[in-house]
Amino acid sequence: MSASAHRPFDDQLWYTLPVESAFGQLETGPEGLSDEEAAARRARFGANVLPDVPRPGALQRLFRQFNNLLIWVLIGSAGATAILGHWTDTIVILAVVIVNAAIGYWQEGKAEEALEAVRAMLPLQALALRDGKAQGRPAGELVPGDIVLLAAGDRVPADLRLIEARGLRVEEAALTGESVPATKQTDPVDRDTPLGDRTSMAYSGTLIAAGRCTGVVVATGKQAQVGRIGTALASIEKTQTPLLRQINRFAQILTVIILSFCSVFFAFAVLMRDYAPEYALLAMVGMAVSAIPEGLPAVITITLATGVRRMAARNAVIRRLPAVETLGAVSVICTDKTGTLTQNEMVVRNLVAGPDLETLDVTGEGYGPVGDISVANAAISLKPDHPAFEMIRAGLLCNDAELNCSAEQTWSVAGDPMEGALLALAAKAGFDTALERQHHRRIDEMPFEAENRFMATLNQSDDVAFIYLKGAPHVVLAMCSHQAGQEGRHPLDISAWNAAFDAMAQRGRRVLAFARKEWSGDTLPDSPDMGAGFNLLGAAGFIDPPRPEAVSAMRQCRRAGITVKMITGDHALTAKAIADQLGMASDGKVLSGSDIDGFDDNELRAAVKSSSVFARTAPIHKLRLVQALQADGETVAMTGDGVNDAPALKRADVGIAMGIKGTQAAKEAAEVVLADDNFATIASAVREGRTVYDNIRKVIAWNLPTNGGEALIIMSAILLGLSLPITPVQILWINLVTAVALGLTLAFEPPEPTVMDRPPRGRRASLLDTEMVWRVGLVSVLMAAVVFWLFLSTAETEGLPYAQTLSVNAIVVMEIFYLFSVRYLHLASLTLSGLAGTPAIWIGMVLTVLAQLAFTYTPFLNATLGSAPISLEHGALIILFGTALLFILECEKWLRRRVLGWKR
Ligand code: ATP
Repeated sequence: MSASAHRPFDDQLWYTLPVESAFGQLETGPEGLSDEEAAARRARFGANVLPDVPRPGALQRLFRQFNNLLIWVLIGSAGATAILGHWTDTIVILAVVIVNAAIGYWQEGKAEEALEAVRAMLPLQALALRDGKAQGRPAGELVPGDIVLLAAGDRVPADLRLIEARGLRVEEAALTGESVPATKQTDPVDRDTPLGDRTSMAYSGTLIAAGRCTGVVVATGKQAQVGRIGTALASIEKTQTPLLRQINRFAQILTVIILSFCSVFFAFAVLMRDYAPEYALLAMVGMAVSAIPEGLPAVITITLATGVRRMAARNAVIRRLPAVETLGAVSVICTDKTGTLTQNEMVVRNLVAGPDLETLDVTGEGYGPVGDISVANAAISLKPDHPAFEMIRAGLLCNDAELNCSAEQTWSVAGDPMEGALLALAAKAGFDTALERQHHRRIDEMPFEAENRFMATLNQSDDVAFIYLKGAPHVVLAMCSHQAGQEGRHPLDISAWNAAFDAMAQRGRRVLAFARKEWSGDTLPDSPDMGAGFNLLGAAGFIDPPRPEAVSAMRQCRRAGITVKMITGDHALTAKAIADQLGMASDGKVLSGSDIDGFDDNELRAAVKSSSVFARTAPIHKLRLVQALQADGETVAMTGDGVNDAPALKRADVGIAMGIKGTQAAKEAAEVVLADDNFATIASAVREGRTVYDNIRKVIAWNLPTNGGEALIIMSAILLGLSLPITPVQILWINLVTAVALGLTLAFEPPEPTVMDRPPRGRRASLLDTEMVWRVGLVSVLMAAVVFWLFLSTAETEGLPYAQTLSVNAIVVMEIFYLFSVRYLHLASLTLSGLAGTPAIWIGMVLTVLAQLAFTYTPFLNATLGSAPISLEHGALIILFGTALLFILECEKWLRRRVLGWKR
């Protein structure tokens, strides 16, 4: 009978049921479901997803736009003009408020959307058995009855009744609030057991802290415990970043300063310059709205969101928005070796085995079974009595990988590449993997964990059981008391073996050693060294070539003043050899995990400076290294993949997790996930991060002089007792048109060519440094001077509306030319590529010119905004002024580079 004919599965007390009855109830078994049955159940139970967290409603979002001091100043100004009966001004100011709110409303969701979109690139994956075969599946596809396999670092994808558990500890804080991981097992527990003590279950949303397990899915989606208690795990990240906070604070301080300034000026205008209070108030409104950079936060958010998209296109998936900024400031990158700097495509190249430590060479590429085993260049066929034979068998049995052959005869590995290489080696030696695994049944295992650096299995054949051990050579050697030879056990020659390991490592080989011992128990011994007394079988040397792109990325980092440190669990000599192949600056001492343990915090701070390779480390050392580097004022990026890397990833300024081989725990702790596990991607993300920061500086450098120039014009007019060269509504018009059409284009600027040729910015570098303040001041003064001259020379002869229209157009035209200057903060803009601009710039320019033509020549806007058509000659004059501004600013840049020696 099909499952769909049954009552729902969700009213069972699964934790009280023995495994067999759970299988019975769920109509499944240890082999899992078939694909057809799974599809039928999915139609019945739905996808394994929780309902979305409700987002704020449209009205709520709209109201939030008014939660802003700047907007209230504008509304206040609208009120003031309304009281004075200047209805046109009121309407225009209100129009600006509404357009601003609309832009805010539109852009608010943009950054969140960008983050959500890239996060969709990281779906939760689960390893499920379908028809007895383990297959990676999106967790959303799981159904009750599926068999799921989990290991340390995985997030539990659905509620599971455990059917097998080894050393399993599960962190259930998301569900029970208890942060100490709970130990789990497979026996049923009592009916009254509270949720936190149901040790036979693993609940959806909790995290495997250690060990591994297999479980049968009993509830999915809303039916799972998380779904029932309404806990929403997928919360939406806040899009505030330190930089945005800095800008908001800056804008608020500016507003307060402007308002105080306005009050003083109002008094001055009325008392000392005999302005009518009404006119003075209007002038103050003009000054307030001119000086307030109302469009700035929106443009900056869009710049950040653009950064997120660009980084995603380069395989760096941003999980938290602040990382976009911090990436640009990174001064040290601490990176794993295997798979990040190297290709992680392993091949066994040589073996050392037997009492004489005989060396055997292995040929063949990739994971295919093609290749020879040879001694002194002569291919041999390994006999069972050859010492290497049992070692190759150990590599085959103490192994969780599978090799697959595609229709095109290309071989690939499912699981650890090193274990895949051992299977390929076994095939070359004539072993039939499936048959061997059948004859030597695995009855217990100790999975590989980075802390232990070894893996062990207990395999039972007809009459005898052996523990097979494979791991880092020094770890395995320490657990051995003898070495294997043709006639059984021989005394262990520790120094000869160490010399053999070192010789392999020196050639950049990754080394694994193999050992075994007979064992009569039906589980592995419960001690960290498996009771020692092993018989050493031999060692294998793997090649894992460096990624070619990592070599050039390394060079790029060096030019950009970024130090790279390699942190690996591998042998010191292997690490050093790979570092040399990568062209890393690795002259200093290679520090090992035990060296780090021996240092106190101050000694470590001094030691990390001179070393760039750290070998034989465990995850705990990464945390200490990050802390030591940060104490020295560095901005640290740290990579990681295991569950135990999470603390270091959280502590680093930018935690970077591996997207392919990383655990869910590492991904969740990180700010950035590398979709391709590639070191070169980190370098390109840093490049994009620097670009985002540059672009934000450009937006500010471009925006503030407009506000500054306008405020200066009004202030000077009042001080001199003149009519205003631009009216408040005209100022609003300029700010609105240019901020939207021109300012926004800077968010899409490509990186400057020298972006990776300068040192990283300081950790606490302010956006408004002296250089920026000087630039803003200079441009404000130049703009104000031009406008004043134009206004004064035409107001008398051509009339006020004409002179004001000229002023408005002069400001806009100068802003356009200034935009071209600002595109390169430090390099010359008067180059072919500088003048060619970007599509965004040309679209912005065309829109601005159209808006200005409408402002100047349409009767409707002439009437509402007080403008008047201007002559062609004056139009040409304005363009001349714009060009002059660009030239002056280019000369200033050139002088800075020449005189102050700026290379940036
Ligand atoms: P990275 O360079 O990225 O730190 P790593 O492989 O060098 O990676 P770990 O994965 O922590 O570091 O491995 C540490 C050591 O443990 C390896 O050098 C190797 O000797 C041993 N080892 C790695 N994988 C296995 C495995 N599957 N079984 C047994 N031993 C292993």
